[in-house]
Amino acid sequence: MSDRPEKFIDENGLRLDGRKLDQIRDVKIEVGVLARADGSCYLEFGKNKVIAAVYGPREVHPRHQQKSTRAIVRYKYNMASFSVEDRKRPGPDRRSTEVSKVSREALEDQVFTEYFPKSAIDIFVEVLQADAGTRTAALNAASVALADAGIPMRGLVSACAFGKVDDTLVVDLNKDEDNYGQADVPIAMTPDGKITLLQMDGHLTPEELKTGLEMAQEGCRQVYEVQRQALMDHYAKMQDETKAPSVEEVVIAEENEVSEDVSTPPEEMKEKVVDESGEEEPEVEKALPEEEDEETVEEPDTEEDDSYE
Ligand code: ADP
Repeated sequence: MSDRPEKFIDENGLRLDGRKLDQIRDVKIEVGVLARADGSCYLEFGKNKVIAAVYGPREVHPRHQQKSTRAIVRYKYNMASFSVEDRKRPGPDRRSTEVSKVSREALEDQVFTEYFPKSAIDIFVEVLQADAGTRTAALNAASVALADAGIPMRGLVSACAFGKVDDTLVVDLNKDEDNYGQADVPIAMTPDGKITLLQMDGHLTPEELKTGLEMAQEGCRQVYEVQRQALMDHYAKMQDETKAPSVEEVVIAEENEVSEDVSTPPEEMKEKVVDESGEEEPEVEKALPEEEDEETVEEPDTEEDDSYE
């Protein structure tokens, strides 16, 4: 663990990583990264790197967890042993159980679970690199993965923390601010400002809490914009790959078809040769139609060409 910095905010009012007090870290999102999941998302939030996979709606195992009127939502948060400075002991622990529970609750309300009785929607999030704020990064990724899986939702959930360092409120704490700061408040909310996760570690006055919430709301709004854009880009790309041909493409294809047809005589121009015994001989294609027929044969490509001019 790094040593406690002497101060967190310099004389210019900037934080140790050069950010302003109300500036979130860069968010990068890639949608649909896992072929076997119904929905997936890779997300970077500063130095945090997480991957989320959604499966379902699908059958519930074990069966006794099944709810007859709605789907159950399950959320599994896991930190890879290589995601932190000192190797983390692999497997679930109290912290991952707590993060999984609060994150499930933060998302569950946004899902139309009543549409899928007796089924399960499973969300798995793996933290590949941790740098404080992994639960908010994981929630942002999970929310996008749910949308990618086509799960009907009231809205996306966007998350971001605020906290206090050097008696000053800052948004989206980095590792040192999280480790040595005076407060850390992770928050998740919907685009219309409904809070679905609020935890608090440390001490804040009611005034600070109110101001901090406003700062975090703006942070969540910025995250939401990146989530929305990532989903739109992903679906625009998918549409490009599967889109119907344009009018120009159809015209070119038809023109090519017509010019190919000219070299192959149409079916009625093939002559069946019947020998004296009345047996049909194999089909013989005439290279050219008879002289007199030639005049009566329509020239389809001339007409076609006219109509496209
Ligand atoms: P969050 O990651 O949501 O901020 P915490 O406040 O509990 O959650 O953790 C802050 C940071 O502490 C994590 O992002 C991670 O970098 C580090 N951390 C958490 N658990 C461990 C662990 N078991 N071993 C090493 N570092 C950890």
